[in-house]
Amino acid sequence: MASVELCDVRKSFGNVEAIHGVSLRVEDGEFVVFVGPSGCGKSTLLRLIAGLDEATAGDIWIGEDIVNKMPPVERGVAMVFQSYALYPHMTVFENMAFGLKLSGTPRNQIEERVGHAAGILELSSLLSRKPRELSGGQRQRVAIGRAIVREPRVFLFDEPLSNLDAKLRVQTRIEVAKLHNSLDSTMIYVTHDQVEAMTLADRIVVLNEGIVEQMGRPMDLYRRPVNRFVAGFLGSPQMNFLSGTAMISNGAAGMQLSDESTVALPPEFGSEISSGGSVTLGIRPEHLSVGPDRDVSLSGRILLTEQLGDHSLVHLVLPHGDEVVMKVEGETKTRADDDIALGASFSDCHIFGDDGRAVGAKP
Ligand code: ATP
Repeated sequence: MASVELCDVRKSFGNVEAIHGVSLRVEDGEFVVFVGPSGCGKSTLLRLIAGLDEATAGDIWIGEDIVNKMPPVERGVAMVFQSYALYPHMTVFENMAFGLKLSGTPRNQIEERVGHAAGILELSSLLSRKPRELSGGQRQRVAIGRAIVREPRVFLFDEPLSNLDAKLRVQTRIEVAKLHNSLDSTMIYVTHDQVEAMTLADRIVVLNEGIVEQMGRPMDLYRRPVNRFVAGFLGSPQMNFLSGTAMISNGAAGMQLSDESTVALPPEFGSEISSGGSVTLGIRPEHLSVGPDRDVSLSGRILLTEQLGDHSLVHLVLPHGDEVVMKVEGETKTRADDDIALGASFSDCHIFGDDGRAVGAKP
């Protein structure tokens, strides 16, 4: 096991820079998830750590070594890809043993390590099967097993669950979490799925266009996103955003919407926003609820309601035309075209300035 550190790492393809100076540290034994939209540079960062690509600038540390010039095989990393990349003509045992055999590991050690990994991954009864005789989830477990037997210093996962159907994705996600608990290894995991990021990570790195927007523990990012991008990326359905003009009067903060109606903003922001400036109010769907006279009071007309069993999503249009989503526990009796009062507590409000940065992030 080892820590991983990136110091001002840059990567260009031709004259286009894809990674713009990323610095971050993954502690020994930590599970860190790189998340972000397609093309933000997640896989490129992982490939730089694995040694499959070379950084244009900056240093990459694994443990006590700067590994920029070290070939992949000497870095002590094992990578699990989205496409399982198993050898079709080999059995599960042979697939898992292949790398060890190549490196000249004695037969008894190979058997012991493969047996141990197969036990952890519940593959013991499948060792003599060929990949074509396995389900997608079992194949992905073999690919993970092949990484485990190498006893790497760092596991690198590149969207390992993307090829699985929804149910298997959830099951395998839980297996990956258990695997981290039992191995206590350093793991870096790439996904564009914010649910995987929230559920698996000790810490999440949110990437966007080749830069780190924010790194932190999942609930810290959920509660205190530093900017509108992170606020919108984590959480499902995504945070509602209402844009308007800040108004400060007698120390009270408010916001004027495009129909000239006003909503109150948390008073503590009064000293941090300037009257007349653009401001965006962010409220998560789960923090909106039905009722008048809330800290932030809104009215809306229901467009449609989605009943999802344990909760319902109510889609509303506000008088000035913006749409919001409200998440309600259980079933709701609201109907399309009903006019309702709704709102949120000041403590659940996020305010973003016109540069997109969170204003007065709460402690
Ligand atoms: P996805 O979720 O779609 O896999 P990603 O976040 O992993 O995306 P990367 O594959 O790291 O994104 O790509 C980051 C950027 O670098 C993209 O703009 C991509 O087009 C570019 N890029 C990646 N590999 C190459 C390459 N070999 N040659 C040129 N450009 C590349």
